Amino acid sequence: MSKVDVLPQVAAFLQRRHGCFIDGQWVVPEGATSPVLNPATGETIAQVADASVELVERAVLSARKAHEARVWSGLRPADRERILLRFTALVEAHGEELAQLETLCQGKSINMARMLDVGATVEFMRYMSGWATKIEGQALDVSIPLPEGARYTAFARREPVGVVAGIVPWNFPLMITTWKLMPALATGCTVVIKPSPETPLTALRLAELAIEAGIPAGVFNLVTGAGNVGQALASHQKIDKVSFTGSTAVGKIVGGVAVQNMTRFALELGGKNPMIILADADIDKAVQGALLGGLLNNGQVCAAASRFYVHRSRYDDFVAGLAAAVSTMSIGAGMDTAAAVNPLVSRKQQQSVLKHIETAKQEGARVVTGGELVESAGFYVQPTVLADVNHDMAVARAEVFGPVLSVIPFDDEDQAIAMANDSVYGLAASLWTNDLTKAMNLVPRIEAGTVWVNAHVLLDPNMPFGGVKQSGMGREFGRAVVEAYTEIKSVCIAH
Ligand code: NAD
Repeated sequence: MSKVDVLPQVAAFLQRRHGCFIDGQWVVPEGATSPVLNPATGETIAQVADASVELVERAVLSARKAHEARVWSGLRPADRERILLRFTALVEAHGEELAQLETLCQGKSINMARMLDVGATVEFMRYMSGWATKIEGQALDVSIPLPEGARYTAFARREPVGVVAGIVPWNFPLMITTWKLMPALATGCTVVIKPSPETPLTALRLAELAIEAGIPAGVFNLVTGAGNVGQALASHQKIDKVSFTGSTAVGKIVGGVAVQNMTRFALELGGKNPMIILADADIDKAVQGALLGGLLNNGQVCAAASRFYVHRSRYDDFVAGLAAAVSTMSIGAGMDTAAAVNPLVSRKQQQSVLKHIETAKQEGARVVTGGELVESAGFYVQPTVLADVNHDMAVARAEVFGPVLSVIPFDDEDQAIAMANDSVYGLAASLWTNDLTKAMNLVPRIEAGTVWVNAHVLLDPNMPFGGVKQSGMGREFGRAVVEAYTEIKSVCIAH
């Protein structure tokens, strides 16, 4: 065991009475609070405010006022970029503190929190900062005939969409907060963020770093609480765009309430992502890819590989290789740098994953390794490989969102593609083959927002990310997200 010591500033932050961040200040309500638990021990480590409807109202009006006063969108793009780069540098400088806060409330590995939750977030922030100076419109030739002899020059400019509500899940709290926040800030929008009640700590700290960086008061507001707070935000008439990441069930509600006000919305939802391993694939590489793609963040990744379609000729090799690797993984707290598998985020998530495993067993799946609860006050589940899974079993269809890998054989590629596409979800998929012709012919047939070949779950800020079917609507990252946070205004000048 190699346990990381909690930084004094992290310990002090946990002790604070946390409020909501509105108009550049903490507002600590008198009312109810909710505990934040450490998934490794089940103990309460912090208390966070449950925002009232009145506080949500204040946060939205603060963002609205800042938007209308153009305190942010009115800055020179180069000034916005400079402030955002300063914000990014502050996040990097406070990286260890943020990584520890993330691990302590989410349960994830501190190694990963440092590398991905902070490291990749900083890269994403730097990438998005640069977009502030690269927003462009279009010059338009027009043929307006009236009045006779008149001449017109027209152009389309991209303007910030306005006030953005960002609703965030618990699996990558800091990272997904910045996936909402940074495109909004780069394009000149103002924001109200609502983190998940399980994992609000890094977003709270981020609000302070934003002010320190020079982002004006009112541009970045934050309210904490459960789903009712998210719903009050998403349905508010003075919100111009809702960017939601979370479950498909809640995404449908959020989309529904947004439509009532004609609020633009983007939904990044669940996934049941296939990994298709063809007969010619390198099985050792596929096993390594399955470990990363399936068990990153203990399987609590929307794009995680969770159903593995393997050509029957390679099925036994793949199952044996995967089981051998998974069965030796050490299980422990996220703050233990030697632990490869960590607790799930909550007791509820642990129970839900165990129930999926139990149902799979009842339906005839064979547990090759794992499959049990780990006796502990924390929320652990053994990493699990299920073989002899039938494509019709619940475990092959429902999003488990935990360390459960289901392996299914196939006989020909058409069958593999048909099973991969036979899902309500369409977030991500991967294809494992060394045959370039096969890869190029099969990629267009896979119904998913992202398809990797000989890789899985690797994202890049310049590569649009999002789902098809019930995995969501809209794209994050790249030029696509800049377009999604701006609205086109046509300007026509007579001369
Ligand atoms: P969730 O849907 O339960 O909650 C997400 C957020 O919505 C939380 O902040 C929650 O408090 C809030 N919320 C709950 N009810 C609401 C309502 N009626 N109106 C508005 N907001 C409401 O999801 P979760 O359990 O936090 O996260 C896990 C889910 O997120 C999984 O399904 C996973 O696939 C998905 N996810 C998707 C992506 C992606 O990019 N596609 C990324 C990460 C997670």
